[in-house]
Amino acid sequence: MDFDVVVIGAGPVGGFVAGHIAARGHQVALVEEHREVGEPVQCGGLITPRVFDLVPGKETVVNEVHGAEIYSPSGRSLRIDARRTEAVVVDRAMFDRAIVKQALKQGSHSLLGTKALAGRYAKGGVEVVVARNGKQETITAKLLIGADGVQSNVAKWFKIFRPRYILPGFEVEMTGVEGDPGFVKLFVGQNVAPGFFGWIIPSGDGRGRVGLCVKEGNAFEYYRRMVRDGPAKAFVARAQPLLYIAGGIPLGFPRRTYADHVMVVGDAACQVKGTSGGGIYAGLRCAMHCTNTALDALERDDFSARQMRRYHRAWSRTVGKELRKDLAIFESFILLKDKQFEELFDLFDKPAMIEIIERYGDIDFPSKLGWRLLREEPRLLKYAGKALRPMLPRLGG
Ligand SMILES: Cc1cc2nc3c(=O)[nH]c(=O)nc-3n(C[C@H](O)[C@H](O)[C@H](O)COP(=O)(O)OP(=O)(O)OC[C@H]3O[C@@H](n4cnc5c(N)ncnc54)[C@H](O)[C@@H]3O)c2cc1C
Repeated sequence: MDFDVVVIGAGPVGGFVAGHIAARGHQVALVEEHREVGEPVQCGGLITPRVFDLVPGKETVVNEVHGAEIYSPSGRSLRIDARRTEAVVVDRAMFDRAIVKQALKQGSHSLLGTKALAGRYAKGGVEVVVARNGKQETITAKLLIGADGVQSNVAKWFKIFRPRYILPGFEVEMTGVEGDPGFVKLFVGQNVAPGFFGWIIPSGDGRGRVGLCVKEGNAFEYYRRMVRDGPAKAFVARAQPLLYIAGGIPLGFPRRTYADHVMVVGDAACQVKGTSGGGIYAGLRCAMHCTNTALDALERDDFSARQMRRYHRAWSRTVGKELRKDLAIFESFILLKDKQFEELFDLFDKPAMIEIIERYGDIDFPSKLGWRLLREEPRLLKYAGKALRPMLPRLGG
């Protein structure tokens, strides 16, 4: 139980990091509290195909999506059709398994059914107390990587940071869902999903993932209203539930994602888009920076906070630029009232605006649309608040 690196959490991010460090000949333990990788599912599984430039798992795609239908609080809709595959829907449990399978092939040691209970500094490194097969054991390592998701214990143990928001979410995968399977449906409004939105993500063969996140409050209650009397009702009237999913989306921009001998990555570090709650692509890109810093630290035998800070700088200057803008968009979005949503629908419901979104929309880089839309429709500024501030210098150019 003595390793070079211990990674807590066998989600996509932990699997990626563990595999790539082990592939370079280091001893890596990948610790996961559940006995089955990928369970329980806590995700809509909507990602862009570029995720597969980073990880395996193409065979886990169950549907392709080329647009979205967005519904206003009063039930008006806007249809965006990119006429190309904008996103794919994966079987999330199988997707996680594909990544962890590769990590094992790359030489990492998986400790499934092993819950990390405590972490602390010891003997020039870290030690993690785990519960495994009903017993407590201690794992030691030079480096600890917390890829342990939204409620990250690693971030708590080493006082790294806490998310600014954790948005509660609830989702049900259903069979017998109506509607065009090539389009995601999005529902906005204070009575539907205050502070965020509701969705139907078509997952192939008449299935759909019907869910929502809210800024705060009881996500299940809002979900129930959305499907019983709300905007999703028409699409799920004859649908049957298959799988229930509850989880939280962490948002915020951490000032620090490291400590001596420690880094946190993925949801554990709030590397999630404030515009959609998607964390797989951003988390994996940050995982590349985390891996590079870990390999460098192992080579130099330097695990000081100063060395670990390279990771924080690398991700915040690259992926972080988009995440910062997305968080600002979220913080403007949560202020919108239903009346303002309707006014925004008036502004967007024009061929030129729809064409800009269809041409330039990209769910991994949503902020790129901002300045184009604003040039076409300057009245958007009134609603954007601080959301568009990070993009304003580009308007002059
Ligand atoms: C309702 C909902 C819908 C979503 N939909 C999408 C979507 O469509 N597209 C998208 O890109 N993102 C989506 N997300 C976000 C996405 O699920 C996360 O961003 C992603 O899972 C983050 O990956 P991760 O590897 O960082 O963490 P996780 O996938 O959360 O993995 C963390 C792992 O750590 C393990 N762990 C935690 N604590 C311990 C411990 N003490 N000991 C041992 N193991 C531990 C957990 O069991 C888990 O396996 C959604 C989230 C929610 C809540």
